[in-house]
Amino acid sequence: MNPTHFQDLSYDLTLIDTGYHRPGCTGSYLMESMGRAAFIETGHANAVPRLMDALEYRGLSPNTVDYVIVTHVHLDHAGGAGALLEKLPNALLVVHPAGAQHMVDPSRLIAGTRVVYGDDQFQKNFGSVVAVDPSRVIAVPDGYLLTLGDRQLTILDTPGHARHHICIWDAYSRGLFTGDAFGLSYRAFDGLEGPYIFPATTPIQFDPMTAIQTVDRLSALNPTQLFLTHFGMINWNTVVRDAMITQLKMIQSWRERTEWRGQTGPQRRRWIEAQVKQWIVEGLRTHMHGALTAQDRTLLNMDMELNAQGIDCWLAALEKQTAGYSA
Ligand SMILES: [Zn+2]
Repeated sequence: MNPTHFQDLSYDLTLIDTGYHRPGCTGSYLMESMGRAAFIETGHANAVPRLMDALEYRGLSPNTVDYVIVTHVHLDHAGGAGALLEKLPNALLVVHPAGAQHMVDPSRLIAGTRVVYGDDQFQKNFGSVVAVDPSRVIAVPDGYLLTLGDRQLTILDTPGHARHHICIWDAYSRGLFTGDAFGLSYRAFDGLEGPYIFPATTPIQFDPMTAIQTVDRLSALNPTQLFLTHFGMINWNTVVRDAMITQLKMIQSWRERTEWRGQTGPQRRRWIEAQVKQWIVEGLRTHMHGALTAQDRTLLNMDMELNAQGIDCWLAALEKQTAGYSA
């Protein structure tokens, strides 16, 4: 066991660095109450030994885990669910109704992820994805209440990043486990003015208008903090809310731009990549007051690539709709 993978947060929460892609990129949370435990996010399948180590680190047996909750079924969040449940005899999987089928039969999820990442990267990034026994799945609607020890969790249906996305409101910490619904924020970029945060527009269901509604809804709860999967705890305030809304509105405004209309796929993609680079690199440069190193830029490469792909999917769908109407 390597304790540097674990960070004790307040409120009986442990942040586990799943080791996906690089340190400080993707987290899972271990929550405790009255001797009972839950994982929120599993990370990719190769992270399972680390999650089991986290239980040992906290002095908990595998029998104490009641729930494995995944915010959505993208494999950096839920890829380890099947393998983890095999090691936790009492745990049930908590997942959005639209994601449940993909946990029981992950074949389409695997095929889709291979398209996004490519075959080589898929194997390296995600390992083998194990199907979940349907009898161990709770498909949770909006407002569903879960009790862990004396802690009450409320499930919120939060589309925008993906249609199969939930967030979890934890009354005890006044905290929200946001998955990818409230963007990405890496601790390496924390500055005097707070965290740098930007939306995750990953393929294939990203929709900026819906994502704005979700950020508004989450913000209306007036949380004290956000527990992001990428990565860790940040304080919620109107500055982070406004940063998210402003960027999502900017992306939404791209639908009105004419440069990408009627372009071939590769041309449209190049235009989007240039916009995404400008948006994220310049945003970070402003946040860091110009002091951006080559390493800082490297930390953002994967997200910029995925964000460009997701926006491409969204604009391609809009283009198809327009073509459909005019036909
Ligand atoms: Zn993610």
